[in-house]
Amino acid sequence: MDTQTLPLTASVQAWTGGSHFQNLAVNLPALAPGEALAAVDLATVCGSDIHTISGRRPGPHPGILGHEAVGRILSLGDGGARDFHGRELQPGDRVIWSVTVSCGQCARCRAGVTAKCVELLKTGHEPLDGPWGLSGGYASHIHLRRGITMVSVPDLVTDAAAAPVACATATVMAVMEAAGPLARKRVLVSGAGMLGIVACAVATHRGASAVHVRDINTERLALAREFGATDATAPGNDPSGFSVDIAVDLSGAAQAVESAFEALDIAGRMVLAGSVSPGPAVALDPERMVRSLLTVTGVHNYEPRHLQEAMDFVKETRDIYHWDALVEEPRPLSELQFLMQPPSGRSLRKSVTPLQEQRGEHHDHP
Ligand SMILES: [Zn+2]
Ligand SMILES: [Zn+2]
Repeated sequence: MDTQTLPLTASVQAWTGGSHFQNLAVNLPALAPGEALAAVDLATVCGSDIHTISGRRPGPHPGILGHEAVGRILSLGDGGARDFHGRELQPGDRVIWSVTVSCGQCARCRAGVTAKCVELLKTGHEPLDGPWGLSGGYASHIHLRRGITMVSVPDLVTDAAAAPVACATATVMAVMEAAGPLARKRVLVSGAGMLGIVACAVATHRGASAVHVRDINTERLALAREFGATDATAPGNDPSGFSVDIAVDLSGAAQAVESAFEALDIAGRMVLAGSVSPGPAVALDPERMVRSLLTVTGVHNYEPRHLQEAMDFVKETRDIYHWDALVEEPRPLSELQFLMQPPSGRSLRKSVTPLQEQRGEHHDHP
């Protein structure tokens, strides 16, 4: 598509605070060198957006939420833009993009912790009237700023399989990297939401000898078994002597963190990633930590390599795991406000197709 056919504005569902959204037309930005404009084909609703509108996580508003999405490049700034592998992107290319946008220059970026860049911007977390208005996926178009990571989507990967990669799957890649090698390890996954289900698949794929999952939701436990869990049950049902080498907490529940710590065997490692809103403190016995040589670490968001690794994983395992079956049939963007509630049953993500209404208009004026 050449620039002559570009619309002048994007159609967005702006979050205006509380549980309120408003349909707005927002001017498309002038692209700086290295930037791109993409049309958003599908955006999935991550649980943290639901936290935001329920007041559990602060966010600037009005602003465009949505940080799990897939789209197509429409236009590029001077000099073009490149994907993670350094390949020059072309109009029409399918891409996903990272949650974090970093400067690449500060001490944290240089230390390899770009997710905590001192000038960090976040996809779907910026004010509409700020320098990055079109930052979110709940819009017909998104401005892909310099410093964002773009990963090409292989033809074999559907939109529904691709969109959650940008938050859930990539975060799990960072979590599993922090957990260390998984081959022949007994792994405990606390929480069987989107991240927990991905964690089951990764642990299985990397040769874990057992994958234990704990969640209160029986439908999700069944799903966990389909994605590789060898034992999936409600918390508190651990057999006596239950022990694991690796524990990953994706639930954020204090009780789950305590039980997982208790289950760690000698030289065990625990990775915490679910505790993303304030909660009660957890008691960890330092003597046990010392004598059992335990490691406890935290992961928040991810680095660019994890986004590429997550896309590669979904592509590689697409015939083993039905990634797109975890995403409900998409709804038009105008229904976004009704989708802002935790998914139920076997669905782990609701989704919207932001361009659907615009396409509908074109059909009316052939
Ligand atoms: Zn998310
Ligand atoms: Zn930086």
